[in-house]
Amino acid sequence: MEYATLADYCRRLETADADVELVATLADLFRTADADHLPAVVTMVRGKVAPRWEGLELGVSSSLTTDAVLRATGVDPDALEVEWRDRGDLGAAAEWAVENNRQRTLVSGTLTVIGVRETLRELASYEGHGSRDRKVEALAGLVADADPTEARYLVRTALGYMRIGVGDGTVRDAVAEAFLTDDPEAGDDDAPGTPAATVSGVKAVERAAQLTNDYRVVARTARDEGIAGLRDLDLELGRPVELMLARKAEGLEAGLTDVARRDGAGDADAPGWRGHVLVETKYDGIRVQAHVDGDDVRLFTRRLVDVTEGFPEVVDALRTGVGAERALLDGELVGYDAATGEPAVFQELSRRVKREDDVEALAAELPATLHCFDCLHVDGRTLLDEPLDARLDALETAFDPVDGLERAAATVPDDVAAARACYREAVDAGHEGVMLKNLDAGYQPGRRVGRMLKHKPVMEPLDLVVTRAQYSEGRRSSLLGRLYLGAYGPDADAFREVGRLSTGYTDAELSELTDRLEALVVDRDGRDVTVRPELVLEVEYEELQTSPEYGSGYALRFPRFLGVREDLGPTDADTVDRVERLYEAQ
Ligand code: ATP
Repeated sequence: MEYATLADYCRRLETADADVELVATLADLFRTADADHLPAVVTMVRGKVAPRWEGLELGVSSSLTTDAVLRATGVDPDALEVEWRDRGDLGAAAEWAVENNRQRTLVSGTLTVIGVRETLRELASYEGHGSRDRKVEALAGLVADADPTEARYLVRTALGYMRIGVGDGTVRDAVAEAFLTDDPEAGDDDAPGTPAATVSGVKAVERAAQLTNDYRVVARTARDEGIAGLRDLDLELGRPVELMLARKAEGLEAGLTDVARRDGAGDADAPGWRGHVLVETKYDGIRVQAHVDGDDVRLFTRRLVDVTEGFPEVVDALRTGVGAERALLDGELVGYDAATGEPAVFQELSRRVKREDDVEALAAELPATLHCFDCLHVDGRTLLDEPLDARLDALETAFDPVDGLERAAATVPDDVAAARACYREAVDAGHEGVMLKNLDAGYQPGRRVGRMLKHKPVMEPLDLVVTRAQYSEGRRSSLLGRLYLGAYGPDADAFREVGRLSTGYTDAELSELTDRLEALVVDRDGRDVTVRPELVLEVEYEELQTSPEYGSGYALRFPRFLGVREDLGPTDADTVDRVERLYEAQ
């Protein structure tokens, strides 16, 4: 395929006004590409010359590109600069430069899609002395052979952005539209009102993309083998997958019920959470997927970067500990201070990824442990559609814990108090918090899903005194559910309010708090009571804001009840000064 064809399509995509038009145009481009060019077209339309996980860095800056455009076209540097500024994009400025080319006679050949891709890929291999000049030369060669439209997109591809509105979702929909609309097998399980084959096609493409992480393979398979071929695609060891991501829990108790609902699939179907939710330590480290294929072990981060070389002791642990012949494990890599055994903060561990020092020296100073919490594949069985429960069974049999390789600490709590105890234990051991996971749910690569929630204290909890309270509405109307909290101001020996608490407690806890507060009431006004400031509560929250609403001048955002500090008197509570310092520090 000539590069001019791709460039023309890019122009049409850039000027498309609706998503439907974008998808239709892209589908048309995919149908137009022959089998050899389709993989290149699929990546280049996103401004890439390789999938992200290949980690290919072209090392092309805008100043290098400018030099290449100047060398190819001979336009005035200041004029190019002005065009760049006015058009807001170096690709558009390159287009202008080619239109005003003073060296038109140098044009020597026709650019092809594969030719452009190969030249750009080669740039990545130029290293060391003279490499910049070689890159300028190679890029100038392409620009010299380009017409204005080709130059516009060539330059954008070299810089790694296309600005034509094509994202992963557009590519997914276009592959389905181009190759799968007529599939007779499709149309079994989809929404009314949409051409069933297209919706099933989109799902099949998305699934295949999650498994392979490579739209080159997906597009070619869709084209040559249709939906059936896509359904046969599988994880491949050595090729990283997108990992499942979490959402935030609205507090521990709400999280337990929410996570049991499986991505908001409807309350009516929600099982009781007891027995269905795993509460697991949330470690503060680096998310990695470990691919074990016999002795061949590779570690990839969440961004699909290969970090195997940085963690030789973990690679050894996987070689020793994993009994399965082939496995893909998901986990968190945590560095532990060799002297104290304490978990290191993430920033420390990232030194090991960057390999800032000798790898062995760093490993001795900050040995890492992989805490595994999921198993995506074991010995020929891909487990993504299996419930977490079954995947954890597979994890259990896939490896034996050894130094540097462990299961993440987890329990299936029977009540909120047990879940809270896990959370406390995790935080007290220096970890970040807990993950809440639905034991009946499958694994969704690359998605932020409600079947896995995270719960952590965002700020250090504060100990605050209840100054006023209000009765709740509705079901809890006999309970004092809204509690105003004050920080201690030693100067005036008074409490200054910092916010109002209304979540985090169970009914039983709230009823006990109500009894205690009613005994402290000094004034009543309808449903509002003022209380003697005696009861100290431990409260977590997400951040501090300044606020004219409360006497302290600050307000807690999303405060949540953690417990009563029986051991503290009101003057032991956190002070207004401390709140101020925390506000400054955040
Ligand atoms: P955060 O900054 O809170 O870690 P994030 O955006 O990096 O969030 P999320 O998916 O939102 O990632 O939160 C879950 C992250 O927590 C995972 O990506 C993983 O790195 C980490 N983690 C630590 N322990 C666990 C665990 N037991 N199960 C799942 N993820 C865990």
